[in-house]
Amino acid sequence: MGPDAIPLSKPDISQLEQTLVRDVLASGRLAIGPMQEEFERLVAARAGCAHGVAVSSGTAGLHILMQALGIGLGDEVVTTPLSFIASANPIVYVGARPVFADIDPRTLNLDPAKLEQAISPRTKAIIGVEAFGNPAHMDEYARIAAKYEIPLIEDSCEALGASHKGRRCGSFGRAGVFGFYPNKQITTGEGGMIVTDDSNLAAICRSLRNQGRDEFPDSASEQQRLGSWLAHGRIGFNYRMSEVAAAIGVGQMQRFDRMMEQRERIARLYIERLSGIGSLILPTIDPESTMTWFVFVVRLTTDYTAEERDRVIMGLRTHDVGSAAYFPCIHLQPPYRERFGFKPGDFPIAESVSNRTIALPFYNSLTEREIDLIAQTLEVMISRESITRG
Ligand SMILES: *Cc1c(COP(=O)(O)O)cnc(C)c1O
Repeated sequence: MGPDAIPLSKPDISQLEQTLVRDVLASGRLAIGPMQEEFERLVAARAGCAHGVAVSSGTAGLHILMQALGIGLGDEVVTTPLSFIASANPIVYVGARPVFADIDPRTLNLDPAKLEQAISPRTKAIIGVEAFGNPAHMDEYARIAAKYEIPLIEDSCEALGASHKGRRCGSFGRAGVFGFYPNKQITTGEGGMIVTDDSNLAAICRSLRNQGRDEFPDSASEQQRLGSWLAHGRIGFNYRMSEVAAAIGVGQMQRFDRMMEQRERIARLYIERLSGIGSLILPTIDPESTMTWFVFVVRLTTDYTAEERDRVIMGLRTHDVGSAAYFPCIHLQPPYRERFGFKPGDFPIAESVSNRTIALPFYNSLTEREIDLIAQTLEVMISRESITRG
């Protein structure tokens, strides 16, 4: 890909974020400060949750939740095989066993019936993921979690601002997690946030992100706070978010509605331009969901092989259109095969979908002309495969 290529994603940073960052730098307060609190308030409100706990990444947020919920050795956590690897790795961090269930081929999320079949007496939690930002089934996962009296953790790293049946993503389970890497709906460079209505859980998460220090009520004196800086009630982590990162996040949240309108417009243009290509399956839009779009992922019909899909992606890149195979199945990544014995064929629907996905460029400043160009290039690359096949 050349310097004028259309990238797969691009952060949308305005003058506002730059000003807020400059203010933080000038203030001299670079960690544990007012920006983090403001960012927590803005994101929690957007998710319809009482508490937000800013952390250093979405992965760190999931790790903290595993720890806070007491999940460990001998426990099982059920999740989806079709996701970014970070939605399952935190299960392994705490010594528990990831148990996958196959997906619904329409929504690309965990199939609720298969999720329920995968639950055993050792299951201690469900991690539900909104794959590519699609919130379908999250209410069903919550119902299943309640039935078996286990917590649902919502990995909403791809779904900030989305909702399903009138309910905000992040608010379906005991806790939700957002990620703010530069390719997500909003970014802080690196960062994440836990959201929850459970004030006890929020307090434990605040402590765990901050080296296991106790949290104080707002009424605590400066003396009490100082005295306990070196008092650690539990083994925690340093998973804090810096004030610089939080300042970027505050600016992004202030522009959130406008940015999501742009994403919606781009998604609609894509659907319009791509719906005429016969070999493509477009994302299913559930009338009961609103999406904020993470990336735009289409897939080839089942008559295409993984090799043909790979050549289409390479062809797009050669023609300066960013593209990737989002996502290879987690259970087939080498450490999961080696440690847990997963193999091809274990989750046939997820594997079949994963072999045919094509992620297309998606970012707020993408123009209509660029979308036309992407659609045309994609169509040429696909017909090249059909022709060489004979
Ligand atoms: C991005 C992402 C994560 C991890 O977020 P980071 O901030 O990159 O650690 C976890 N789960 C899913 C589904 C993601 O897309």
